[in-house]
Amino acid sequence: MSVPAAMRAMVFDGVRQPLRLEQRPVPVPGSGEVLLRVLACGICRTDLHLIDGEVEIANPPRVLGHQIVGVVEGTERVVGVPWVGWTCGTCEQCLGGHENLCPNARFTGCDIDGGMADYTVADERFCFPVPAAYPAPHAAPLLCAGLIGFRSLRFCSDAQRVGLYGFGAAAHILIQVAIWEGREIYAFVRRGDTVAEEFARSLGATWAGPSDAMPPVALDAAIIFAPDGGLVPLALRALKPGGRVVCGGIHMSDIPSIPYSELWDERSIQSVANLTREDGREFLELAPQVPVQTQVTSYRLEQANEALADLRAGRFSGAAVLIP
Ligand SMILES: [Zn+2]
Ligand SMILES: [Zn+2]
Repeated sequence: MSVPAAMRAMVFDGVRQPLRLEQRPVPVPGSGEVLLRVLACGICRTDLHLIDGEVEIANPPRVLGHQIVGVVEGTERVVGVPWVGWTCGTCEQCLGGHENLCPNARFTGCDIDGGMADYTVADERFCFPVPAAYPAPHAAPLLCAGLIGFRSLRFCSDAQRVGLYGFGAAAHILIQVAIWEGREIYAFVRRGDTVAEEFARSLGATWAGPSDAMPPVALDAAIIFAPDGGLVPLALRALKPGGRVVCGGIHMSDIPSIPYSELWDERSIQSVANLTREDGREFLELAPQVPVQTQVTSYRLEQANEALADLRAGRFSGAAVLIP
């Protein structure tokens, strides 16, 4: 199949504006880059933070989308592209094995054009092989929801009882990994969201309830995926001494002040920033072993705004994916 001259893309023009469908030239890969025909691109809460201006896009217009599954043009090779799209490789963080903290990093669908398009280009070094067991729409959510969840769980070390606050795309993948590792999951959802509670139980949650409730037992760790800083004190109160609250999102509303006694006994709060390629390789090898199954709602590329509105309103369970 030859590459056409023009393609469709969903473009971010500015804060709080809907994405705009645009015809634009198919991008030309530079040195070390590959041209990908996009098969699927997952949407993510980070896309809402970008649209709302809570995470800044420095140079609009920009094509969003950072959970890309595509075919390398001219080959049969199917690869996945994550949020981290480029790192400098020379700074202290990169050289120390923490490329997720590289101050020069460029992020897919934020600093570089992403996957809400028919085609995109990506730095070959940041393309992961996609496990053969996954059709493209089911692989896409592994690339951010899956990866960030996996990195968050690693910060819980050997915690046996783990709380998940917010039961969306990341949690529905992570619960499968955590249970496979022999952990118990306690799922916290918005009060009254019985659909999410049921969804969590169907995936093996030991307990599911509203986020302002105390779990039946004290937890060893909690991961917060919902962008609500008010959950941090609640999660701290649900922990045993020595327990850790891990904040998995890229943005969160302010954390209310708490008495020091609630952090006492060596409880801790940890943020998770981005991912390393090592996380990606490790997780994509692990996923088919579990095997992680992703629940996906598909939208056409030009329905991106509708998909994002449904994400904001919590109108689907699991993950949502755009299919060009
Ligand atoms: Zn994401
Ligand atoms: Zn660097």
